[in-house]
Amino acid sequence: MDRQALTYFLETFGCQMNVLDSQLVEGQLQAHGLRRVSSTRDADLIMFNTCSVRQHAEDKVLSRLGELKRVKLHRPDTIIGVLGCMAERMKNELFEQAPHLDLICGPGELFRLPELLADVAESRTPVAALTDSLSRRTSKVNRGHEVDPLEVLDQSRTTDVSANVLQAYVRVQRGCDKFCTYCVVPFTRGPERSRPPAQIVDEARRLVDAGCREITLLGQTVNSYVHPEDGRAVRFAELLERVNDIDGLDRLRFVTSFPADWDEDIFRVMRDYPRVCPYLHIPAQSGSDRILKAMKRTYTVAEYLRLMDTAREYVPDIALAGDFIVGFSGETADNFQSTVDLVRRVEYKSLFVFKYSVRPGTAADRSQLDDVPAEIKAQRNNELLAVQSEISLRQKQALVGQTVEVLVEGYSKAARKARSANNGELVQLTVQSEQDRGSEATREPLSNQLVGRTPHDLITVFNGTADHIGRLVHVRVDSASPLTLFGQIAD
Ligand code: SF4
Repeated sequence: MDRQALTYFLETFGCQMNVLDSQLVEGQLQAHGLRRVSSTRDADLIMFNTCSVRQHAEDKVLSRLGELKRVKLHRPDTIIGVLGCMAERMKNELFEQAPHLDLICGPGELFRLPELLADVAESRTPVAALTDSLSRRTSKVNRGHEVDPLEVLDQSRTTDVSANVLQAYVRVQRGCDKFCTYCVVPFTRGPERSRPPAQIVDEARRLVDAGCREITLLGQTVNSYVHPEDGRAVRFAELLERVNDIDGLDRLRFVTSFPADWDEDIFRVMRDYPRVCPYLHIPAQSGSDRILKAMKRTYTVAEYLRLMDTAREYVPDIALAGDFIVGFSGETADNFQSTVDLVRRVEYKSLFVFKYSVRPGTAADRSQLDDVPAEIKAQRNNELLAVQSEISLRQKQALVGQTVEVLVEGYSKAARKARSANNGELVQLTVQSEQDRGSEATREPLSNQLVGRTPHDLITVFNGTADHIGRLVHVRVDSASPLTLFGQIAD
């Protein structure tokens, strides 16, 4: 098979970890001469990088695979692959459910993808690459050597200046050791392994040299990062300091933090180092101690609240983002009310709310009933989002009249739509912005609408020109909706 001529289609599901894995996989494929296409119709290789955190995400992939039976029938040479967490969780069961599948590859084996694809193409037999071998027996500090070499192998995104990455993810850690009872991640992504600090700083520096302005350090429990160096342990606060010191970097973020592993030194760095954004994503999951215990989260509501108070003592304007699961096994109306109370008390900037979905093989699946009816889960989900929406609107309205710093990411979705509908020509389509619907207020020319984020991760929409894209600008806020600030460039 002439690999120079091959095309690939890759669709990504799930979290930032998967987005980063897909970027690295694409770098490898392109280095081997493969070309990306945007439709399965034109692809020689069709791959899904998958998520197992909720049943819904897996169902979507199974349905996509079902649609591909016809493709395989008409074009039997097409290679179909499932990458990531679903491959690792379902293993050979995936081949049983989708016999037309050629390849399954777990997250820890993605660095072998070109070789695995070549194997499939030559042998025409299904291939599985899974990571059962990683062990938790080695102490956490000494597991750095078990980090797979995906990042090291693929440096294209950090050496190709034309890639022009404005914002980039840098992984600091793989896997998780927490085993929250509902979660499949420790099974699919293996034990927690932290990358050497020098490797992380080097990758971040190369990204900044290639034009990157904002870096987000990624880890499943990013604040539990630890790696040995010269006979001592480098922890997350020190890693943040080292990345912060890279010349040319404007902003540094990190996700996701685990409350029980928090080290107060991280707050000190957030307060004292200007590039570290005042934004903290720190999932609580529930406001009930009974449910937190059933989830094995290893902290209490009081401890979590103390942590949020300390965060505000160090960084008074810190923007807090939380994750909550509603309808977990045994969650009563009172337990849910405690979650609502926690959300009101913390006053998050934003929330990610998930309806509990039982995952096969987890402790909750083995020993806890999924006993909250679907309609109650939906109701609690909506109620929590409505509470947050009130809080978000109030917080954003307080910014009206103020000036915020925005890193301009590009044209807004609406502007891109307006432009593509007119073959890229500037047209003065006007649509009322979200907050003005139903009134005769301001009408903005859509095709010039730009979007970016503040250091507090607030999405901000305003009019500007292509020259502003990739730059830091100051925007005077005119109005706000629960999700967005609207304004005008002030400088
Ligand atoms: S900390 Fe808990 S929820 Fe987060 S990835 Fe690990 S096991 Fe899953």
